[in-house]
Amino acid sequence: MKPSANPTVIIRHCDAYDPERIRAIVREGLETLGLRPHGRTLVKPNVVSSGPMFKNAYTRPEFVEGVLAALRDRDDGAVDELAVGERCGITIPTRRAFAGAGYDEMLERARAKRYCFEEEPQVEIPYSHKGRLRDYVFTPEPVARADFFVNCPKFKAHPWTTVTFSMKNYIGIQDDRHRLIDHDHRLNEKIADLQYIVQPQFIAIDAITAGEGRMLTPIPFPLNLVIMGDNQVAFDAVCCAIIGVDPMTVDHIRLAHERGFGPVDLAAIKVVGDVSLDEAKARAKGFKVGLIRVEKYFEGSHITAYAGPPPDSEKTDYCWGGCPGAIEEAIEILRLFDETVDAKMPRLHVVFGKYEGPLAVGPGEKVIFMGDCSEYDGPIGDKLVQIRSTYKDRATKDPHHAKHEDIYVKMASVMAKLASSKDDPYVRFGGCPVSVAEQVLALCFLSGAKNPILDPKESIPFNKAYLQWRSTTALQRLKGVPYQREGACERGEARPEVE
Ligand code: SF4
Repeated sequence: MKPSANPTVIIRHCDAYDPERIRAIVREGLETLGLRPHGRTLVKPNVVSSGPMFKNAYTRPEFVEGVLAALRDRDDGAVDELAVGERCGITIPTRRAFAGAGYDEMLERARAKRYCFEEEPQVEIPYSHKGRLRDYVFTPEPVARADFFVNCPKFKAHPWTTVTFSMKNYIGIQDDRHRLIDHDHRLNEKIADLQYIVQPQFIAIDAITAGEGRMLTPIPFPLNLVIMGDNQVAFDAVCCAIIGVDPMTVDHIRLAHERGFGPVDLAAIKVVGDVSLDEAKARAKGFKVGLIRVEKYFEGSHITAYAGPPPDSEKTDYCWGGCPGAIEEAIEILRLFDETVDAKMPRLHVVFGKYEGPLAVGPGEKVIFMGDCSEYDGPIGDKLVQIRSTYKDRATKDPHHAKHEDIYVKMASVMAKLASSKDDPYVRFGGCPVSVAEQVLALCFLSGAKNPILDPKESIPFNKAYLQWRSTTALQRLKGVPYQREGACERGEARPEVE
């Protein structure tokens, strides 16, 4: 599967989530690009979360419905399977995210199969390119075996990677246990490496209502656009140009470009459609990306954040892809569920990385040391405290032995930790990263804010989906289907041909 050498990006006007209008636009896009689906055709939306509170975070089902109908329109009998697959974020069962986002009814109407990637066997993919973070990774079998891969992201800002367009949507082609490996200050490199698993033949992004500022709880920004393309790097470069970001400053795009996946220079990309690039830029004027350091993010709140660098050997002074960004998303989730959370929050100090400055902690105030790499040597009140890094080199993290930690285990461990440190001036949360879910739970327990996971409207469908997920994978194990399968996938052209 070779990324297109003469990439085209199509920018179209669309001001409504009308599946029929989207179908017509996408069908014309497929015609312009000369594409027809075939074999196992897999659509990968961004359903990072779901439900009315997160409705600007995910690719809307009306959008995917239009895309699926357009793919059927372009099928000349060569499609064996039309499917939609995803691993959503923040520890939610994907089947719950699909249901909450309105995908289930839509998939039934569209006669498309649903894949919840964490319920599928995981296939080992070897890497051999220069500069890789590791020699192999795992991806769900439907991704590894897709013949025609369609990426359907949501146009959003991202607090860890500046933007989430087409390439960043690949973080959902791994289940939790594998996704969290390297989801730290090397996140951009991880995303660039994931490009070797599969390249999409077609990309269609939901930019009708884009998401500004954040990724889970973005501010809606009407762009009224459907953007399509056939090369992921070129596509992301055009999306960057629309919001005035230099794609070479977004490391995962830069790396993929340098590795031969596609051009970032607009002169090398054919941009067509009924909306010019200049008109698209005018529509996006003022669009804010989300790259804000954690210290600044919490200014003026009851939380003071202190960020030292992640481990020395790893060449950066801030962990953009890990714990600091996760706490920014965590507080925004709590704000959605409980508007009094900021008022309820006790004075709290949160330390990331190797922090060498002073901690301005008042009597009775608590300090959280967040993540394996947090380090501190100094006073907290009248006590001298030494926090040592427990960071493990990434070379010691073998994807073969990655373990799944479910939300209930996380909940119990966060509660136990807070209970055991109740009378201490500080508490340490280990993990690399400490996930958004764990940070939501920690802030929730400390502030007494409403726990989104125990929200009465959410808890019954969540628990039902959780039990179905766990029983599905248990049944597969009983049938002898291995969850992780070593060795390359069976598709002939497994790796994109670059370099
Ligand atoms: S522990 Fe957290 S802050 Fe430290 S390197 Fe890992 S993800 Fe980054």
